[in-house]
Amino acid sequence: MTYKTSDNPRHANSWYAASANDKRVRPQLQGEIEADVCVIGAGFTGISAALELCERGYSVVVLEAERIGFGASGRNGGQIVNGYSRDLQTIAGRYGSDKAVKLGAMSLEGGEIIRNRVATYKIDCGLVQGGFFAAFTEKQVREMAAHKANWEKYGHSGLEMVGKDEVSRYVKTDRYAGGMIDRLGGHIHPLNLVLGEAAAVESLGGRIFEGSRVTGVETGERPLVRTAEGSVRANYVLVCGNAYLSPLLPEIHGRMMPVSSQVMATEPLDAELAESLLPANYCVEDANYILDYYRRTADNRLLYGGGIGYGGHDPKDLTSVIRPNMLKTFPQLKDVRIDYAWSGNFALTLTRIPHMGKISETVFFSHGDSGHGVTTTHLLGKILGEAVAGHAERFDVWASLPNLPFPGGRALRVPLTALGAWWYGMRDRLGL
Ligand SMILES: Cc1cc2nc3c(=O)[nH]c(=O)nc-3n(C[C@H](O)[C@H](O)[C@H](O)COP(=O)(O)OP(=O)(O)OC[C@H]3O[C@@H](n4cnc5c(N)ncnc54)[C@H](O)[C@@H]3O)c2cc1C
Repeated sequence: MTYKTSDNPRHANSWYAASANDKRVRPQLQGEIEADVCVIGAGFTGISAALELCERGYSVVVLEAERIGFGASGRNGGQIVNGYSRDLQTIAGRYGSDKAVKLGAMSLEGGEIIRNRVATYKIDCGLVQGGFFAAFTEKQVREMAAHKANWEKYGHSGLEMVGKDEVSRYVKTDRYAGGMIDRLGGHIHPLNLVLGEAAAVESLGGRIFEGSRVTGVETGERPLVRTAEGSVRANYVLVCGNAYLSPLLPEIHGRMMPVSSQVMATEPLDAELAESLLPANYCVEDANYILDYYRRTADNRLLYGGGIGYGGHDPKDLTSVIRPNMLKTFPQLKDVRIDYAWSGNFALTLTRIPHMGKISETVFFSHGDSGHGVTTTHLLGKILGEAVAGHAERFDVWASLPNLPFPGGRALRVPLTALGAWWYGMRDRLGL
């Protein structure tokens, strides 16, 4: 397939793109085709939904504006973090214990879906088990212990508190006052995961088109999805464009905000040095509001992320934002070369809880994992597939949660959210 230069679909210039297992470019949609279901967006949400539907025997077409995994799914920290961006206690307080019990029952499922698919479809994505949450202060340690006790009520038995003197079993730094491990957490090469899942979709007859940006969706009994060169007539449309969706469907885009986060990868480290930094090979995220997250890669790089840009704006020099944080954690890396630095956008909602719902009886959407989406997108994609198949009980639980616009409208939502984040960031810096 050849592309006009302007259509040339691309990946971010990341270590993930450089080390992707599958570099095939899928064709661009040309002409009119039909399917049971048309999915917009080939990230974790869209591909998870497509795979669920293909496994159930539906004919599925996925339309991706750029490449499979082009968005957050192919650029993230690769951390399998269980649960949601708000804990179950907060969910119970806001929406009632019935909702918390229902969401709690699903909160470990995303990780399970990933592990099952990796095993079923033999996906080579460097899956490693185990995650460490790092606390800077005694207050954060106490909050983690409360979080653990609460989560255990919902059946999570993989958590264990780690005292200050045991931190070095997981991270070689003196920054932390303690932490918590999650044995059901872990890490993956996210682009290779989504590429492997996409190949599974294709092995079951699903069709994926790259370089095929959706420019319009006509709702109706049999909705029509248009791209520059073609269209798909389907019984259902699933909108899974997340932070990259704009300007399509402004009615849902206004209820999420793109937020950028930056990641960099060092040169491959000497194996002994890499192991000394993270001896258990767990991934790490800290407990600050604007957090650092990092892990080892299969080729012994340190992949370090952090930083935040409300509205999806990137700093000019990505490395200069992340490298100082890395050196605070690991001063021993001061002479290490940075081979890759990239940025990506996730979708933030006002409630920090994902939104799922219907634009019409035949057009459904899911977005807004608010920074923790590797597991949730797998769960919500599956639930979108279930809803199409007529099993909407779990979809209805998510769709019943409030789907609120950001205060300040399009003009003020970015500065107002940044102001709130500045306040929480300041509290972290002061150790409050
Ligand atoms: C830098 C970074 C680090 C992160 N780290 C972690 C982490 O370690 N752990 C964790 O749990 N979460 C992490 N996240 C969040 C997580 O990556 C996301 O929540 C998740 O990948 C979102 O998946 P998605 O499929 O919903 O969206 P995306 O992966 O963004 O996919 C949306 C796709 O839709 C396509 N699209 C959009 N509009 C159109 C259109 N009109 N036509 C066709 N296609 C369209 C886009 O091109 C894109 O490929 C991180 C996010 C970022 C940005």
